[in-house]
Amino acid sequence: MAQILKNNYLNHTIMAIKKVEIIEGCIACGLCVDTCPEVFEMEDLATVIEGVNYSDYEEKIKEAAESCPVEVIKYE
Ligand code: SF4
Repeated sequence: MAQILKNNYLNHTIMAIKKVEIIEGCIACGLCVDTCPEVFEMEDLATVIEGVNYSDYEEKIKEAAESCPVEVIKYE
């Protein structure tokens, strides 16, 4: 049990998201905005909202990136 907790802690530390971007190719489907409106917004195409603590929305950012039909959401 202690090992699992330690691993979870380490994964969280390693995976903290500092940067989110949408590279060229967005088709404006709106899925990322529906999934995580705290981080993504729609203009003509989807954009990333600046000044957000992305680590607070880590799971939703990952879900949005995995759901994007053209895989243009990148994070690190
Ligand atoms: S999910 Fe992907 S294609 Fe759809 S709006 Fe967001 S970035 Fe664009």
